[in-house]
Amino acid sequence: MYLRKPARHLISLGSAGGSASYLIELMDIETKLEILDQIYEIYDRFCARLSVACERNCAICCTGNVTLTTLEGYRMIEDMLQKDKADLLGRLDGAAETGRFQPKITTNQLADLCRQGKKVPEEDNGQAATPCFFLEKDECPLYTHRPFGCRCLMSRRKCDDTGYADMDDFVLSVNTVFLQTIEHIDSDGFSGNLIDVLLFLRSKTHRQDYRSGRPDVTGTRLIPNRPMTILFVPPEHQNRMAPILQAVQAIQVPVKPS
Ligand code: SF4
Ligand code: SF4
Repeated sequence: MYLRKPARHLISLGSAGGSASYLIELMDIETKLEILDQIYEIYDRFCARLSVACERNCAICCTGNVTLTTLEGYRMIEDMLQKDKADLLGRLDGAAETGRFQPKITTNQLADLCRQGKKVPEEDNGQAATPCFFLEKDECPLYTHRPFGCRCLMSRRKCDDTGYADMDDFVLSVNTVFLQTIEHIDSDGFSGNLIDVLLFLRSKTHRQDYRSGRPDVTGTRLIPNRPMTILFVPPEHQNRMAPILQAVQAIQVPVKPS
């Protein structure tokens, strides 16, 4: 149980890199999950102001190519266990046989390579977009705790009509900043395809190892996360982005009693 202390004792997310990275190393999984939930809330508030064509039971965007961090995967599995939905994890065995997008680099690694002017490895994006193995009658049984990769998929026009998601450039910039931030919070964790992350975390031992910061991902397709050293925000979006960044940097979580 958390000890509610005066605000000066709260951990502030602060700015990227430097002391913030140091604090994140000191955070336990519950603290990181609380920050993740607050990040989702900030993003949901941002989305509530957008005009999009997305609606319930519109699920073409729910494919087996979703990626996420181990922190988000851990949140999803906790949710399944708490709501007696652990049987959903049984679907992973069939899903593991399907082709899927398996990223080679994370968003923060991409940002680092761009900052250093280095070559960016090409991703293999050629996989067919098969429906997500979780989908039930075009609805997500884990909607409340769906990962950011699912939350950030939206479109101004029906994907049914266009064949693609039509997103404003500023929304794409905001999405990138949130992807970078979530990876930063889970910088001693990993990223990968939804199927690969959940296959790994399905094991109680792996979840315990992840909680204690010692997961061995040998033999998986998971890639190590990194802290963010630079934010991907184009100059034309910096003013509009400022209040969103301030909201993220103002996130505070209660400290646990020592
Ligand atoms: S992104 Fe496209 S497919 Fe997904 S809910 Fe929105 S309109 Fe529907
Ligand atoms: S996890 Fe849920 S929201 Fe995400 S792609 Fe699968 S069904 Fe859709």
